[in-house]
Amino acid sequence: MSQLSTLQDTLKSLRFGETANNLPALLEKAEKDNVTYAAFLMDILSYEQKKREEKQIEKRLKWATFPYYKTLEQFDLNEQQSMSKKEFNKLKELLWIEQLYNIILLGPPGVGKTHLAVGLGIQAIHQGYKVIFTSMGELIHTLKTEEITRKSQTRMKRIRKADLVVIDDLMFMAINQDEANLFFHLINDLYNTSSIILTSNKAPKEWGELLGDPAITTAILDRIMHRAEIIHLNGDSYRMKHRTSIFGAKTASN
Ligand code: ADP
Ligand code: MG
Repeated sequence: MSQLSTLQDTLKSLRFGETANNLPALLEKAEKDNVTYAAFLMDILSYEQKKREEKQIEKRLKWATFPYYKTLEQFDLNEQQSMSKKEFNKLKELLWIEQLYNIILLGPPGVGKTHLAVGLGIQAIHQGYKVIFTSMGELIHTLKTEEITRKSQTRMKRIRKADLVVIDDLMFMAINQDEANLFFHLINDLYNTSSIILTSNKAPKEWGELLGDPAITTAILDRIMHRAEIIHLNGDSYRMKHRTSIFGAKTASN
């Protein structure tokens, strides 16, 4: 066995798989650049580290299950007059995740609630946080089937371990008492460990009607609102303003 393949096997058994695969190129570069032993060792370690980080981010982006991939950079603040540049930057800094703050994004359809939530989620993953995106409908379903299917069990485990849980379109559906109870227990579990982003096109005072039980609703709202920033997004639907016409030219809604 050649020295190279022995080295590669050893690296692999030490779980340096990325370095093992790229070893010929790394060695060649070191010889060409005539680097010191210490510099070479550093190159190897930082290569492995960088690759692991990339893989970690890739995995977390997959687990997050965003409905689409849109970043904060793609969010046009000029289109969303109800948020200042300062507020936007403050959100982007993600200090609120450290402080276990929740973010409530309210507003009619098409104003950018989901886009902002996804953008913040992607940003958070790149900063090393674990993020899960779910809709209220999916969440209730997963909670109800947690004891029944492996898939839901895995998903709930990830949700409970996440640093940030996005619950999109809260109250899009009416839920019954049992479901409200399950939801309450989850919010209670997340209360001291994670941040939540909620999006809704209904004001919190209307949430009660959809959750049914006023006592549970109060308990849920208490926990969510204890440390929360409420952001009202309004204006015309971005989709309507920017919709393309089948006749070619873009049409404006007003
Ligand atoms: P909703 O508020 O209903 O969740 P979305 O966030 O899904 O709406 O926005 C609808 C569409 O409009 C998305 O494709 C989103 O990327 C786009 N959009 C909305 N607001 C903005 C904005 N300020 N800048 C860029 N794209 C936007
Ligand atoms: Mg949405």
